[in-house]
Amino acid sequence: MTRRFAVLTGAGISTASGIPDFRGPQGLWTKDPAAQAMFDIDEYVASSAVRAAAWKHRLAAPIWTAEPNAAHRALAGLERQGRLTALITQNIDGLHQKAGSTNVLELHGTAWFVDCLDCHRRIPMAELLPRLEAGEEDPACLVCGGILKSATVSFGQSLDQQVLEAAVAATKTCDTFLAVGTSLQVYPAAGLCDVALTAGKRLVIVNAEPTPYDEQADQILRTPIETTLPDLLAS
Ligand code: ZN
Repeated sequence: MTRRFAVLTGAGISTASGIPDFRGPQGLWTKDPAAQAMFDIDEYVASSAVRAAAWKHRLAAPIWTAEPNAAHRALAGLERQGRLTALITQNIDGLHQKAGSTNVLELHGTAWFVDCLDCHRRIPMAELLPRLEAGEEDPACLVCGGILKSATVSFGQSLDQQVLEAAVAATKTCDTFLAVGTSLQVYPAAGLCDVALTAGKRLVIVNAEPTPYDEQADQILRTPIETTLPDLLAS
């Protein structure tokens, strides 16, 4: 039986790769609510101190050396088999691409690139990390002197509409919508479940904690993602 999946992934798929969840019990914001200012665009633009804290956080992030786990690899395999209408992610860690996925819709952007908020030039994060390591606290754009920020979607910033539209289209053309490691509490990402349900798709949720969509799901799996997903997709 060939089933085509649209897959939405959240932080839970990457925790087994050593990347902490923001909102989970061990999450960054749960442990340090002040850290949330770093992810607010207004606070970021207004304060050099907030930017310095954000760059310090980025430099220390486990993302740069993290390796994909079996769940990321299982989804890359699904793409190679032609059974994926889209891999949609709320994650910014690039682990799907590291695992071999080529068509990834990054709803919340990527930590692997940096945008100038003034001239809108985009450069690889790899160009910034050495400047941070050399001691720059709030590195500015080398072309225009503007404020630099990782190419991730902060609070107060809107999502890329083209990416979102592609995610909606892929959700409408799948047979099964699979939500993995996401609390389904952040919109518009969580709203893709509504798109799937309205279109009569099967909804499968793999997540350790309950979600607002559990009652409407056809299948719910609470077991660890890195073992559950390879089994589920092999069946
Ligand atoms: Zn610039």
